[in-house]
This record gives sequence, structure tokens and C-alpha cells, in this order.
Amino acid sequence: MSVDSDTRKAELAKSLAALEERIDAACTAAGRTRDEVRLIAVTKTFPALDAALLADLGVTDVGENRDQDAGPKRAEVAELRPEAALRWHMVGRLQRNKARSVVRWADEVQSVDSERLVDALAKAVHVARDTGDREHPLDVLIQVSLDDDPARGGCPLAGLDRLAGHLARVGDLRLRGLMAVAPLGADPAEAFARLARAGERLREDHPNAAEVSAGMSHDLEQAIAHGSTCVRVGTALLGGRGLASP
Ligand SMILES: *Cc1c(COP(=O)(O)O)cnc(C)c1O
Repeated sequence: MSVDSDTRKAELAKSLAALEERIDAACTAAGRTRDEVRLIAVTKTFPALDAALLADLGVTDVGENRDQDAGPKRAEVAELRPEAALRWHMVGRLQRNKARSVVRWADEVQSVDSERLVDALAKAVHVARDTGDREHPLDVLIQVSLDDDPARGGCPLAGLDRLAGHLARVGDLRLRGLMAVAPLGADPAEAFARLARAGERLREDHPNAAEVSAGMSHDLEQAIAHGSTCVRVGTALLGGRGLASP
């Protein structure tokens, strides 16, 4: 390996260790065990080599927010580390016309927020399985909006039952739970508590929808305190993305 990639690997190892300490401490404070919380490394804007180095360090899940970057990045990581078994998650807003492309690289889509998107994904998975471009059904999370701001994506809590019912009726998709981003400028703990209650209600009708994806670099402690089963961490692990990036 090159000197550059050795340096980067050491850097990532250090931030991963610090992050693991935070997650451990948050689990302990909440009376939960570490294995109840998955870590998704959000590698958006970072190169494929970073994802490969994270896989070397034991990371099992990566997240991306742009279809056009993620497909090629997954292919590049497969060349760099043919033996690595990373799971790839789509965590960003998704246009319906990207459904066919996203189902070729994503193991899970966490940002499903409309019936039209559900239909487009179901159709795309069906076609991809027919043509051999995909083996398994697609795991999906419904992204809920905790601030009812349509610009930030997510299904309003009031529409959750209906969307979940629709999702459960189409083939090729498996409803695994909920995802949310804390509202800007508000108390994340209060928002994550609402998300947890929505998850409990959802499981009355959809017992397998046990996942609650919540918590990012700056609010993962509050999310774990309120039952998050999946934190999505970019900056705290990989560094800043700069002002121009999403
Ligand atoms: C970028 C992003 C993250 C990671 O955010 P950080 O603050 O860098 O940890 C998590 N979730 C989603 C949906 C994102 O777009």
C-alpha cells in the first residue's frame, strides 16, 4: 500500500476508535448493548479508497446520498477489495427516475417517502431480478419528516400508516423500519422521542419494521438514548466535506 493510503488508514483508524468510544458510552448511558446499534459510515463525497480502508478496519456498512456517485464507487471498491462484503445504503433524497439505477447498487434504501417512489422501486427491483442485475428484494426504511419541511424530504408522520400499508402490499420490497434527520435548530432529543413513538406504532402492524435509523455526527448520543438502532456518521469519521458539498 502507498504511504498516502497508510497515512489515511491511520487517520481513519483513530477517528473510528473515537467514534466507537462515543457509541459505547451512549449505549452504556442508555442501558443498551453495543450490538443493538449499527454504524453506517457515510462516505458521500469521499473516494472509494476511503470506503475500502474502512472495510479493512472492520466497518460493514456504508451510506451514500447520490445515485450517480454511489454506483461507480461501489464498483471501484469491489475492484480494490474483491473480498470485502460491505452493505451499501442509500440515505439521500431519491428521484423516481433514479430507481432503476439505485437498485443495482443499494442493498437498502433509507429515504423512501412517497407511494410513487415505492412503486418505482418495486418495479425496478422486479426488472433487475428478472434480468439478473439483482438477487435479493430491497430492504427499505421510510424516511419520516420530523419538521414537516417538504424541502428536506420525508413522509409527514400523519401519512406514515398509509405509506407503510402501501409498501407492505407491493412485492420485492421489505419494510425494515424508519429513518429521520433531526430538524434544524430544534432539540434533537424531542424529535428522536417522537420518532421512537412512531416506530412503536408502526410495529403494531409491521412487526418486522424494527429499525430506527437516527443520529449523525453531532446528535448520535441523543439518538441512541431514544432507541436508534442505526447511526449514520460522516464528518466524525471521515472529516469535513467542505462548504460546497451536500
Ligand atoms: C450526510 C448525511 C449523514 C452524515 O452526516 P454527518 O453530520 O456528516 O455525520 C447522515 N444522514 C444523512 C441522511 C446524510 O445525508
